[in-house]
Amino acid sequence: MAPLTTLGVGGPARYFVEARNEAEVIEAVGVARAQDLPLFVLGGGSNLVVADAGFPGLVLKISISDVSHFTPQDGSVVFTAGAGLDWDALVARTVETDYAGLECLSGIPGTVGGTPVQNVGAYGQEVSETIRELRALDLGSMETRTLSNAECGFAYRSSIFNTTERNRYIILQVTFELRGGGRPSLRYPDLQKFFAEHAGEPTLAEVRAAVREVRRRKAMLIVPGDDDARSAGSFFKNPVVTQSFFEELSTRLESRGLQLPSYPAADGRKLPAAWLVEHAGLAKGYAKGSAGISSKHSLAIVNRGGATAAEIIALKDEIQARVLAEFGVQLQPEPVFVGFAPD
Ligand SMILES: Cc1cc2nc3c(=O)[nH]c(=O)nc-3n(C[C@H](O)[C@H](O)[C@H](O)COP(=O)(O)OP(=O)(O)OC[C@H]3O[C@@H](n4cnc5c(N)ncnc54)[C@H](O)[C@@H]3O)c2cc1C
Repeated sequence: MAPLTTLGVGGPARYFVEARNEAEVIEAVGVARAQDLPLFVLGGGSNLVVADAGFPGLVLKISISDVSHFTPQDGSVVFTAGAGLDWDALVARTVETDYAGLECLSGIPGTVGGTPVQNVGAYGQEVSETIRELRALDLGSMETRTLSNAECGFAYRSSIFNTTERNRYIILQVTFELRGGGRPSLRYPDLQKFFAEHAGEPTLAEVRAAVREVRRRKAMLIVPGDDDARSAGSFFKNPVVTQSFFEELSTRLESRGLQLPSYPAADGRKLPAAWLVEHAGLAKGYAKGSAGISSKHSLAIVNRGGATAAEIIALKDEIQARVLAEFGVQLQPEPVFVGFAPD
Protein backbone atom coordinates (compact mmCIF):
# COMPACT_ATOMS: atom_id res chain seq x y z
CA MET A 1 0.00 0.00 0.00
CA ALA A 2 3.03 2.30 0.24
CA PRO A 3 2.42 3.93 -3.18
CA LEU A 4 -1.18 4.70 -2.16
CA THR A 5 -0.03 6.82 0.77
CA THR A 6 1.85 10.11 1.03
CA LEU A 7 4.21 8.71 3.68
CA GLY A 8 5.11 5.84 1.37
CA VAL A 9 5.31 2.98 3.86
CA GLY A 10 3.22 -0.16 4.22
CA GLY A 11 2.93 -3.70 2.89
CA PRO A 12 0.24 -5.19 0.66
CA ALA A 13 -3.53 -5.26 0.99
CA ARG A 14 -4.87 -8.81 0.78
CA TYR A 15 -7.67 -7.54 -1.50
CA PHE A 16 -8.04 -4.13 -3.12
CA VAL A 17 -11.14 -2.64 -4.72
CA GLU A 18 -11.63 0.82 -6.18
CA ALA A 19 -15.28 1.96 -6.11
CA ARG A 20 -16.43 4.69 -8.50
CA ASN A 21 -20.06 4.88 -7.39
CA GLU A 22 -22.33 3.95 -4.49
CA ALA A 23 -23.37 0.63 -6.00
CA GLU A 24 -19.72 -0.45 -6.25
CA VAL A 25 -19.13 0.56 -2.62
CA ILE A 26 -22.09 -1.55 -1.49
CA GLU A 27 -20.98 -4.48 -3.65
CA ALA A 28 -17.42 -4.38 -2.24
CA VAL A 29 -18.71 -4.27 1.33
CA GLY A 30 -20.90 -7.27 0.50
CA VAL A 31 -17.88 -9.20 -0.74
CA ALA A 32 -15.89 -8.37 2.41
CA ARG A 33 -18.82 -9.50 4.57
CA ALA A 34 -19.36 -12.72 2.63
CA GLN A 35 -15.66 -13.60 2.99
CA ASP A 36 -15.51 -12.40 6.62
CA LEU A 37 -12.70 -10.00 5.72
CA PRO A 38 -11.77 -6.90 7.72
CA LEU A 39 -12.50 -3.72 5.73
CA PHE A 40 -10.42 -0.56 5.47
CA VAL A 41 -11.78 2.53 3.69
CA LEU A 42 -9.07 4.42 1.80
CA GLY A 43 -9.25 8.00 0.57
CA GLY A 44 -6.11 9.76 -0.63
CA GLY A 45 -3.84 7.99 1.88
CA SER A 46 -2.52 11.29 3.24
CA ASN A 47 -3.23 10.62 6.90
CA LEU A 48 -2.07 7.04 7.20
CA VAL A 49 0.72 4.89 8.56
CA VAL A 50 0.31 1.40 7.10
CA ALA A 51 2.10 -1.52 8.77
CA ASP A 52 4.94 -3.30 7.00
CA ALA A 53 2.81 -6.46 7.04
CA GLY A 54 0.10 -4.59 5.13
CA PHE A 55 -3.63 -5.05 5.73
CA PRO A 56 -5.04 -8.58 6.07
CA GLY A 57 -8.41 -7.77 4.52
CA LEU A 58 -10.11 -5.72 1.83
CA VAL A 59 -8.96 -2.16 1.19
CA LEU A 60 -11.77 -0.19 -0.44
CA LYS A 61 -10.61 2.95 -2.21
CA ILE A 62 -13.39 5.52 -2.56
CA SER A 63 -13.18 7.12 -6.00
CA ILE A 64 -16.67 8.65 -6.34
CA SER A 65 -15.73 11.92 -7.97
CA ASP A 66 -18.81 13.63 -9.37
CA VAL A 67 -19.71 17.15 -8.26
CA SER A 68 -23.11 18.86 -8.49
CA HIS A 69 -23.83 22.31 -9.89
CA PHE A 70 -23.09 25.18 -7.56
CA THR A 71 -26.59 26.36 -6.56
CA PRO A 72 -26.87 29.94 -5.24
CA GLN A 73 -29.15 30.28 -2.18
CA ASP A 74 -29.62 33.62 -0.37
CA GLY A 75 -26.04 34.88 -0.72
CA SER A 76 -24.46 31.48 -0.30
CA VAL A 77 -23.85 28.60 -2.65
CA VAL A 78 -24.64 24.96 -1.97
CA PHE A 79 -23.05 22.04 -3.80
CA THR A 80 -22.38 18.36 -3.29
CA ALA A 81 -19.05 16.69 -4.03
CA GLY A 82 -18.27 12.98 -4.33
CA ALA A 83 -16.10 11.60 -1.52
CA GLY A 84 -13.33 10.53 -3.89
CA LEU A 85 -12.77 13.94 -5.46
CA ASP A 86 -9.34 15.50 -4.93
CA TRP A 87 -9.75 18.00 -2.10
CA ASP A 88 -7.44 20.73 -3.36
CA ALA A 89 -8.97 20.62 -6.85
CA LEU A 90 -12.36 21.29 -5.25
CA VAL A 91 -10.96 24.18 -3.19
CA ALA A 92 -9.40 25.65 -6.35
CA ARG A 93 -12.78 25.55 -8.07
CA THR A 94 -14.56 27.32 -5.20
CA VAL A 95 -11.91 30.05 -5.17
CA GLU A 96 -12.12 30.52 -8.94
CA THR A 97 -15.89 30.94 -8.70
CA ASP A 98 -15.44 33.43 -5.85
CA TYR A 99 -17.12 31.54 -3.04
CA ALA A 100 -15.49 31.90 0.37
CA GLY A 101 -15.09 29.37 3.14
CA LEU A 102 -12.49 26.84 1.97
CA GLU A 103 -9.64 29.12 0.82
CA CYS A 104 -7.49 28.60 3.95
CA LEU A 105 -7.80 24.83 3.48
CA SER A 106 -5.90 25.11 0.16
CA GLY A 107 -3.09 22.66 -0.39
CA ILE A 108 -4.27 19.92 2.00
CA PRO A 109 -3.79 16.60 0.23
CA GLY A 110 -6.37 13.80 0.16
CA THR A 111 -9.99 13.44 -0.82
CA VAL A 112 -13.25 15.26 -0.05
CA GLY A 113 -14.46 12.23 1.95
CA GLY A 114 -11.36 12.29 4.13
CA THR A 115 -11.91 15.86 5.32
CA PRO A 116 -14.86 15.33 7.72
CA VAL A 117 -13.14 12.36 9.39
CA GLN A 118 -10.67 14.43 11.38
CA ASN A 119 -12.41 17.76 10.65
CA VAL A 120 -9.39 19.06 8.75
CA GLY A 121 -8.25 22.50 9.66
CA ALA A 122 -5.53 24.96 8.74
CA TYR A 123 -4.79 28.68 8.93
CA GLY A 124 -7.87 29.51 10.97
CA GLN A 125 -10.49 27.49 9.09
CA GLU A 126 -12.01 24.08 9.79
CA VAL A 127 -13.99 22.13 7.21
CA SER A 128 -16.85 21.73 9.71
CA GLU A 129 -17.62 25.45 9.29
CA THR A 130 -18.83 24.83 5.73
CA ILE A 131 -20.20 21.27 5.73
CA ARG A 132 -23.98 21.41 5.65
CA GLU A 133 -24.54 17.63 5.62
CA LEU A 134 -23.07 14.45 4.23
CA ARG A 135 -24.32 11.20 2.83
CA ALA A 136 -22.87 7.97 4.15
CA LEU A 137 -23.35 4.23 4.04
CA ASP A 138 -24.14 2.96 7.53
CA LEU A 139 -22.30 -0.35 7.81
CA GLY A 140 -24.55 -1.29 10.74
CA SER A 141 -27.81 -1.21 8.79
CA MET A 142 -26.29 -1.26 5.27
CA GLU A 143 -28.49 1.73 4.44
CA THR A 144 -27.39 5.10 3.13
CA ARG A 145 -28.36 8.06 5.27
CA THR A 146 -27.82 11.80 5.49
CA LEU A 147 -26.06 13.18 8.56
CA SER A 148 -26.45 16.86 9.40
CA ASN A 149 -23.46 18.94 10.47
CA ALA A 150 -24.53 18.58 14.13
CA GLU A 151 -24.82 14.81 13.82
CA CYS A 152 -21.18 14.61 12.66
CA GLY A 153 -20.05 15.77 16.14
CA PHE A 154 -17.22 17.96 14.87
CA ALA A 155 -14.49 19.18 17.26
CA TYR A 156 -10.74 19.91 16.99
CA ARG A 157 -9.35 17.19 14.66
CA SER A 158 -12.27 14.95 15.45
CA SER A 159 -15.78 13.88 14.53
CA ILE A 160 -17.92 10.84 15.23
CA PHE A 161 -16.08 9.20 12.29
CA ASN A 162 -12.78 8.94 14.17
CA THR A 163 -14.20 8.61 17.70
CA THR A 164 -17.58 7.22 18.82
CA GLU A 165 -18.66 5.84 15.42
CA ARG A 166 -15.25 4.84 14.06
CA ASN A 167 -15.62 2.23 11.25
CA ARG A 168 -19.42 2.60 11.14
CA TYR A 169 -19.83 4.89 8.12
CA ILE A 170 -18.45 5.14 4.61
CA ILE A 171 -18.76 8.74 3.49
CA LEU A 172 -20.12 8.87 -0.06
CA GLN A 173 -20.63 12.59 -0.69
CA VAL A 174 -20.39 15.86 1.19
CA THR A 175 -22.61 18.93 0.81
CA PHE A 176 -20.98 22.31 1.42
CA GLU A 177 -22.43 25.75 1.92
CA LEU A 178 -20.08 28.63 1.05
CA ARG A 179 -20.48 32.39 1.27
CA GLY A 180 -21.01 34.38 -1.89
CA GLY A 181 -19.22 37.68 -2.43
CA GLY A 182 -15.81 36.22 -1.86
CA ARG A 183 -14.52 37.85 1.38
CA PRO A 184 -11.60 35.72 2.54
CA SER A 185 -10.85 34.60 6.08
CA LEU A 186 -7.66 36.11 7.50
CA ARG A 187 -7.70 34.94 11.11
CA TYR A 188 -4.31 33.27 11.31
CA PRO A 189 -1.18 35.26 12.29
CA ASP A 190 1.00 33.69 9.54
CA LEU A 191 -1.51 34.87 6.94
CA GLN A 192 -1.98 38.30 8.50
CA LYS A 193 1.81 38.69 8.41
CA PHE A 194 1.88 37.60 4.76
CA PHE A 195 -0.57 40.38 3.87
CA ALA A 196 0.79 43.03 6.27
CA GLU A 197 2.05 45.19 3.40
CA HIS A 198 -0.86 44.41 1.09
CA ALA A 199 -3.00 47.37 0.03
CA GLY A 200 -6.64 46.58 0.79
CA GLU A 201 -8.21 43.22 1.47
CA PRO A 202 -6.68 40.35 -0.52
CA THR A 203 -8.84 38.35 -2.89
CA LEU A 204 -9.72 34.70 -2.32
CA ALA A 205 -7.24 33.75 -5.04
CA GLU A 206 -4.49 35.73 -3.31
CA VAL A 207 -5.27 34.05 0.01
CA ARG A 208 -5.21 30.62 -1.63
CA ALA A 209 -1.85 31.42 -3.24
CA ALA A 210 -0.49 32.69 0.09
CA VAL A 211 -1.65 29.60 1.98
CA ARG A 212 -0.03 27.33 -0.59
CA GLU A 213 3.20 29.35 -0.44
CA VAL A 214 3.33 29.30 3.39
CA ARG A 215 2.62 25.55 3.27
CA ARG A 216 5.31 25.00 0.63
CA ARG A 217 7.91 26.66 2.86
CA LYS A 218 7.02 24.20 5.62
CA ALA A 219 6.87 21.19 3.25
CA MET A 220 3.17 20.94 4.03
CA LEU A 221 2.40 21.12 0.31
CA ILE A 222 3.17 18.07 -1.79
CA VAL A 223 5.32 19.24 -4.66
CA PRO A 224 7.57 17.06 -6.80
CA GLY A 225 11.15 17.05 -5.61
CA ASP A 226 10.50 18.06 -2.00
CA ASP A 227 11.57 15.02 0.04
CA ASP A 228 10.36 16.72 3.24
CA ALA A 229 6.79 16.39 1.94
CA ARG A 230 6.94 12.56 2.05
CA SER A 231 4.94 12.60 5.25
CA ALA A 232 1.48 12.20 6.73
CA GLY A 233 1.33 15.92 7.55
CA SER A 234 1.53 16.92 11.21
CA PHE A 235 2.21 13.73 13.11
CA PHE A 236 0.95 14.94 16.49
CA LYS A 237 -2.09 16.91 17.63
CA ASN A 238 -1.62 20.03 19.72
CA PRO A 239 -2.25 18.77 23.26
CA VAL A 240 -4.87 20.43 25.44
CA VAL A 241 -3.93 20.57 29.12
CA THR A 242 -5.79 21.81 32.19
CA GLN A 243 -5.26 25.41 33.33
CA SER A 244 -3.58 24.25 36.55
CA PHE A 245 -1.18 21.91 34.71
CA PHE A 246 -0.36 24.75 32.30
CA GLU A 247 0.43 27.16 35.16
CA GLU A 248 2.57 24.63 36.98
CA LEU A 249 4.52 23.76 33.80
CA SER A 250 4.92 27.43 32.80
CA THR A 251 6.40 28.28 36.20
CA ARG A 252 8.77 25.33 36.03
CA LEU A 253 9.94 26.34 32.54
CA GLU A 254 10.27 30.03 33.43
CA SER A 255 12.84 29.06 36.03
CA ARG A 256 14.83 27.62 33.10
CA GLY A 257 14.33 30.83 31.09
CA LEU A 258 11.71 29.28 28.77
CA GLN A 259 8.41 30.91 27.88
CA LEU A 260 5.76 28.22 27.21
CA PRO A 261 3.49 29.35 24.37
CA SER A 262 -0.21 28.44 24.58
CA TYR A 263 -3.62 29.22 23.14
CA PRO A 264 -7.03 29.24 24.80
CA ALA A 265 -9.00 25.98 24.48
CA ALA A 266 -12.53 25.13 25.57
CA ASP A 267 -11.34 22.98 28.45
CA GLY A 268 -7.92 24.41 29.34
CA ARG A 269 -4.91 25.54 27.29
CA LYS A 270 -3.72 24.25 23.93
CA LEU A 271 0.06 23.82 23.65
CA PRO A 272 1.88 23.88 20.29
CA ALA A 273 3.16 20.32 19.83
CA ALA A 274 5.92 21.63 17.51
CA TRP A 275 7.37 23.76 20.33
CA LEU A 276 7.31 20.79 22.72
CA VAL A 277 9.11 18.56 20.20
CA GLU A 278 11.80 21.15 19.48
CA HIS A 279 12.35 21.97 23.16
CA ALA A 280 12.57 18.28 24.00
CA GLY A 281 15.80 18.38 22.00
CA LEU A 282 14.48 17.00 18.71
CA ALA A 283 15.45 19.48 16.06
CA LYS A 284 14.19 19.79 12.52
CA GLY A 285 16.15 17.42 10.31
CA TYR A 286 16.74 14.89 13.13
CA ALA A 287 17.19 11.42 11.59
CA LYS A 288 16.72 7.92 12.93
CA GLY A 289 17.54 5.42 10.21
CA SER A 290 15.46 6.19 7.14
CA ALA A 291 12.83 8.04 9.18
CA GLY A 292 13.33 11.63 10.24
CA ILE A 293 11.83 14.88 11.34
CA SER A 294 11.20 17.20 8.40
CA SER A 295 13.93 19.80 7.99
CA LYS A 296 11.19 22.41 7.51
CA HIS A 297 8.61 21.43 10.14
CA SER A 298 9.24 19.79 13.50
CA LEU A 299 5.81 18.13 13.63
CA ALA A 300 6.19 16.13 10.41
CA ILE A 301 7.78 12.70 10.44
CA VAL A 302 9.17 12.01 7.00
CA ASN A 303 10.20 8.95 5.08
CA ARG A 304 13.72 9.92 4.03
CA GLY A 305 13.66 7.24 1.34
CA GLY A 306 13.01 3.53 1.76
CA ALA A 307 11.81 3.81 5.37
CA THR A 308 9.81 1.00 6.90
CA ALA A 309 6.71 1.54 9.00
CA ALA A 310 8.70 0.10 11.92
CA GLU A 311 11.23 2.95 11.56
CA ILE A 312 8.44 5.53 11.49
CA ILE A 313 6.93 4.02 14.64
CA ALA A 314 10.31 3.92 16.40
CA LEU A 315 10.78 7.65 15.75
CA LYS A 316 7.19 8.40 16.85
CA ASP A 317 7.84 6.46 20.08
CA GLU A 318 11.08 8.35 20.70
CA ILE A 319 9.41 11.75 20.20
CA GLN A 320 6.53 10.83 22.52
CA ALA A 321 8.91 9.50 25.18
CA ARG A 322 11.17 12.58 25.05
CA VAL A 323 8.25 15.04 25.26
CA LEU A 324 6.69 13.05 28.11
CA ALA A 325 9.96 12.93 30.04
CA GLU A 326 10.69 16.63 29.48
CA PHE A 327 7.23 18.17 29.97
CA GLY A 328 4.92 15.46 31.35
CA VAL A 329 2.73 15.79 28.24
CA GLN A 330 1.60 12.74 26.26
CA LEU A 331 1.47 13.63 22.57
CA GLN A 332 -1.34 11.96 20.61
CA PRO A 333 -0.61 11.01 17.00
CA GLU A 334 -2.83 12.51 14.33
CA PRO A 335 -2.58 9.88 11.53
CA VAL A 336 -4.57 6.67 11.38
CA PHE A 337 -2.62 3.43 11.92
CA VAL A 338 -3.59 0.61 9.57
CA GLY A 339 -2.74 -3.05 9.98
CA PHE A 340 -1.14 -2.74 13.43
CA ALA A 341 -2.28 -4.81 16.40
CA PRO A 342 -4.57 -2.75 18.66
CA ASP A 343 -2.75 -1.04 21.57
C1 LIG B 1 1.75 17.25 3.46
C2 LIG B 1 0.48 17.07 4.27
C3 LIG B 1 -0.15 18.18 4.82
C4 LIG B 1 -1.32 18.03 5.57
N1 LIG B 1 -1.90 19.14 6.10
C5 LIG B 1 -3.02 19.02 6.85
C6 LIG B 1 -3.63 20.18 7.43
O1 LIG B 1 -3.18 21.31 7.24
N2 LIG B 1 -4.73 20.01 8.19
C7 LIG B 1 -5.29 18.78 8.41
O2 LIG B 1 -6.29 18.70 9.12
N3 LIG B 1 -4.74 17.65 7.85
C8 LIG B 1 -3.63 17.75 7.10
N4 LIG B 1 -3.05 16.63 6.56
C9 LIG B 1 -3.64 15.31 6.81
C10 LIG B 1 -4.56 14.78 5.67
O3 LIG B 1 -4.23 15.38 4.45
C11 LIG B 1 -6.04 15.04 5.94
O4 LIG B 1 -6.43 14.44 7.15
C12 LIG B 1 -6.92 14.48 4.80
O5 LIG B 1 -8.22 14.99 4.92
C13 LIG B 1 -7.00 12.96 4.79
O6 LIG B 1 -7.81 12.58 3.67
P1 LIG B 1 -7.50 11.29 2.82
O7 LIG B 1 -8.54 11.23 1.75
O8 LIG B 1 -6.09 11.26 2.36
O9 LIG B 1 -7.76 10.14 3.90
P2 LIG B 1 -6.91 8.82 4.17
O10 LIG B 1 -5.56 9.19 4.64
O11 LIG B 1 -7.01 7.88 3.03
O12 LIG B 1 -7.75 8.22 5.41
C14 LIG B 1 -7.72 8.85 6.66
C15 LIG B 1 -8.88 8.29 7.51
O13 LIG B 1 -10.11 8.66 6.93
C16 LIG B 1 -10.88 7.52 6.61
N5 LIG B 1 -11.58 7.80 5.34
C17 LIG B 1 -11.06 8.32 4.20
N6 LIG B 1 -12.03 8.46 3.28
C18 LIG B 1 -13.17 8.03 3.87
C19 LIG B 1 -14.52 7.91 3.43
N7 LIG B 1 -14.91 8.26 2.19
N8 LIG B 1 -15.44 7.43 4.30
C20 LIG B 1 -15.09 7.07 5.55
N9 LIG B 1 -13.84 7.16 6.02
C21 LIG B 1 -12.89 7.63 5.18
C22 LIG B 1 -9.88 6.38 6.47
O14 LIG B 1 -10.50 5.12 6.71
C23 LIG B 1 -8.90 6.75 7.56
O15 LIG B 1 -9.41 6.35 8.81
C24 LIG B 1 -1.88 16.74 5.78
C25 LIG B 1 -1.23 15.62 5.22
C26 LIG B 1 -0.07 15.79 4.48
C27 LIG B 1 0.60 14.59 3.88
